[in-house]
Amino acid sequence: MKAAVLTSPQAITQHPLRIADVADPQPKPGHVLLRVRACGVCRTDLHIVEGELPPKHPNMIPGHQIVGEVTGGATKDLPIGTRVGVSWLGGTDGTCPYCRRGEENLCDAISFTGYDVPGGYAQYALARAEFVYRLPDALDDLHAAPLLCAGIIGFRSLRVAGVQQGERVGLFGFGASAHLAIAVLHAWKCDVYVSTRGESHRELATSLGAKWVGGETDQPPVELDRAVTFAPSGDVVVAALASLRKGGVVAINAIHLDRIPQFDYDKLLWGERQLRSVANMTREDARDFLALAARIALKPRVTVFSLDQANEALIAVKNDAIDGAAVIVP
Ligand SMILES: [Zn+2]
Ligand SMILES: [Zn+2]
Repeated sequence: MKAAVLTSPQAITQHPLRIADVADPQPKPGHVLLRVRACGVCRTDLHIVEGELPPKHPNMIPGHQIVGEVTGGATKDLPIGTRVGVSWLGGTDGTCPYCRRGEENLCDAISFTGYDVPGGYAQYALARAEFVYRLPDALDDLHAAPLLCAGIIGFRSLRVAGVQQGERVGLFGFGASAHLAIAVLHAWKCDVYVSTRGESHRELATSLGAKWVGGETDQPPVELDRAVTFAPSGDVVVAALASLRKGGVVAINAIHLDRIPQFDYDKLLWGERQLRSVANMTREDARDFLALAARIALKPRVTVFSLDQANEALIAVKNDAIDGAAVIVP
């Protein structure tokens, strides 16, 4: 099969992904073999390809927002032809203290799609049968793909921030994840304030109904109940914190941050304000979010790339050059 293979991490401008013919994945017990119909491109893929997340295996195939069709390893629940989604959560042990507490996103032996196991920048992929999600018919391939990480983890971020119906919520950064989170927030009747770099991102936020839109570290004109930061920047985290009311929460939706700058505890954290990171996702997050997405007919903005253009897709993500999400169709 054809796949985009990472031999050694380098700056994305060096085109570290090699488009190559590799052996087809072979079905194995407990797994389904999928023909990849679409695979979303996530900023985490960029962190893997550029080496901010250290490589775990040579010749890794990235991609963890896979829409696929079962072509092997079918079961009664997942017959041949079933259309399913695969996300970042490739598998857990089910036995560690975190799994037993229902916090499988923190599992000690977690395995990530497109990082620990080969992902969806390919024509075929294997996935653990217990970690795929049947996709509702209402969500077509291209528009379902970005929901599978950007959407689910954005949704989890809102949960981690403790968003309640009708609150004032800030989104700092307005890429693939935030432009889906805003739709969820509107379904929950929240007012949404967006601080982001890039004029086209600000225009997109306005067109999607943001109550106020400003620059990357601008503070909204009101105190926020909750904020989620999406940019991999510590300055943005501090700006979000400075926008909160007492008792408010900032959830950091970034697997990697450049740094956390010094900030004034008395002004920014005192008053029971909270700073929380968002780590991975649970299968429950995925199921709840996909059901909500189908109900509110959530439709991401997508830009399509071919598998041959995998490096270009990541360059576009790095440069914030596309509005919404990039999707590879192999
Ligand atoms: Zn576990
Ligand atoms: Zn992701």
